[in-house]
Amino acid sequence: MEKSRIEYLLKKIEEQTSNAGEEQEKILENILKRNAETDYLNKFLHGQTDKQLFKKYVPVVTYEDIKSYIDRIVDGEPPNILTTETITEFILSSGTSGGEPKYVLSTADCSQKRASIPMLMEAVVHKHIEGLDKGKGMYLLFSNPDFDTPSGLKARMFSSSYLSSPTFKTTLFKTVTTPIEIILSLNKPQSMYCQLLIGLIRRHEVLRIGTIFASTFPNCIKFLQDHWKDICSDIRTGHLSDWITEPDCRTPMLSFLLEPNSELADLLEPIFKNESWEGIITKLWPKAKYIDAIVTGSMSQYIGLIDYYSGRLPIISTFYNSSEACFGINMEPLNKPWDVSYTFLPNMAYFEFIPVDKESPQKAQKLHFNGVSNEESIEKLENGSAQIVDLVDVKMGQFYEVVVTTLAGLYRYRVGDILKVTGFHNKSPKFQFVERQNVALSIDRDKTSEADLSKAIKAAEIELEPHGFLLTAYSSFADTWSIPGRYILFWELKLRDSNTDRLKLDSNTMEQCCRRVEESLDFTYRLYRKMNLIGPLEIRVVKFGAFDELMNFFVSRGAAPLQYKTPCCLKIKEAIEILDSRVVGKFFSNGNLA
Ligand code: AMP
Repeated sequence: MEKSRIEYLLKKIEEQTSNAGEEQEKILENILKRNAETDYLNKFLHGQTDKQLFKKYVPVVTYEDIKSYIDRIVDGEPPNILTTETITEFILSSGTSGGEPKYVLSTADCSQKRASIPMLMEAVVHKHIEGLDKGKGMYLLFSNPDFDTPSGLKARMFSSSYLSSPTFKTTLFKTVTTPIEIILSLNKPQSMYCQLLIGLIRRHEVLRIGTIFASTFPNCIKFLQDHWKDICSDIRTGHLSDWITEPDCRTPMLSFLLEPNSELADLLEPIFKNESWEGIITKLWPKAKYIDAIVTGSMSQYIGLIDYYSGRLPIISTFYNSSEACFGINMEPLNKPWDVSYTFLPNMAYFEFIPVDKESPQKAQKLHFNGVSNEESIEKLENGSAQIVDLVDVKMGQFYEVVVTTLAGLYRYRVGDILKVTGFHNKSPKFQFVERQNVALSIDRDKTSEADLSKAIKAAEIELEPHGFLLTAYSSFADTWSIPGRYILFWELKLRDSNTDRLKLDSNTMEQCCRRVEESLDFTYRLYRKMNLIGPLEIRVVKFGAFDELMNFFVSRGAAPLQYKTPCCLKIKEAIEILDSRVVGKFFSNGNLA
């Protein structure tokens, strides 16, 4: 990126954040002016565009509250029930508690905003790390298929929408090692193979290794483990492996494999053959200065893995985004992953914040074990004893749930994320991402809530009944060290009619339970399972009494026995070990999901 462009973009960030209050007022004014006549807003405002009336009468909502409006638009009704803007596509967000993906209306303005975030971030990174323009980034980027909706518009993930946007194709794409056709290929294994192969052929140009979310890294490592021999052989012979058949991968590869390169193959092979792969990324790409990947929130589970394979290169978490709105960027990219905060960009959407009370120890504990329940804050909001605040009015150190209003038909919409104010950049606050509300388990971009997990386990429990078994307690954890990651459930079983300790577990029944859980989890989980981005679910049956030991452990750490609730998801190593040491049988889901 040219110096003048970097300076221009940095100046823009300074301007926007210095005028955060005015920018926010302007955005809300514009949204109300354009959309006051929509069915939705009209119901509450009767055509008025006053900002105070908006705050007084328009309710704070979740997806479920507005789903019927969105469904009507997906089914082909004109979008002006929610927005007067022209809808260009639907963006699919992570699933609802009901299990289906969420549809978010998108406009040209949304796409442009979404595309501007990586550009701004590029300028910030260039400011902090010198010499990036002297080489390229090996970014592992993948596109997902889109599909048609009855409205005639396409629905797709926001990453796919971004990768096919003109902004990406004309600007950022020039900074990466892989040709666009390969990035846009829908054949993920072939695309991954070619991206890695080109990255290795161009290894001396590679100054950074990246992706969007850190969850891509375990897949990439596993893929290299499975394919490094083919990759080295292709480099040695100058011939692309026959299994790369997709023309969008094969054709662009030909210009990279022009002639045999045994020198490079001789250099790479010993690196791959080494017993330990610790630090392998820096051995393969010796000029890499940093890893570009989001490692905040649920992605923090991958920090250890990235540190291990990269030899502790700095990891830069670039931005905080969602399908519903873009929020902010990391203005201090070289901060350690645990200290990352995102500066909100006030021209992206109209932001409001519900204060979340985290003062009492019980609540802090709740946050730690079970995710944050914010219903209390909403209740307070409804009865007038709590105040939803504007972007510029948030207080340092306070926790909030973020609420957005956009031109594309979301009004006071609860995104579901809990954030903590860590400071201000000019007048705009910086937030640390604390947690997604009610998410129990998370691997890759799947987020399974406590409610979803409990529903799925209930569905599977039916399988136990004919055998006289009772499920007495369960918990879970996301095993992010196996590749791909997977969910492991601990089940404590008891014979309904006997107190015997010895359980005769029938593996067919237990495998069927694993399967029923998987089949009952949401769309995103099942999709990722089918794509092998999540491994088969495992149930570990523990001895009767194991969960009592677990409770003793938490009580010894200060939990109140009367208020103790079995954590639905375990994040503490010692707690997992307590259950693990009492396992009497391990069972896996097998076969493909329907
Ligand atoms: P989706 O709309 O499916 O793309 O998911 C968006 C959600 O991903 C956000 O609401 C956050 O919960 C999470 N997310 C996005 N960016 C970050 C980030 N930088 N750190 C932590 N979580 C993030």
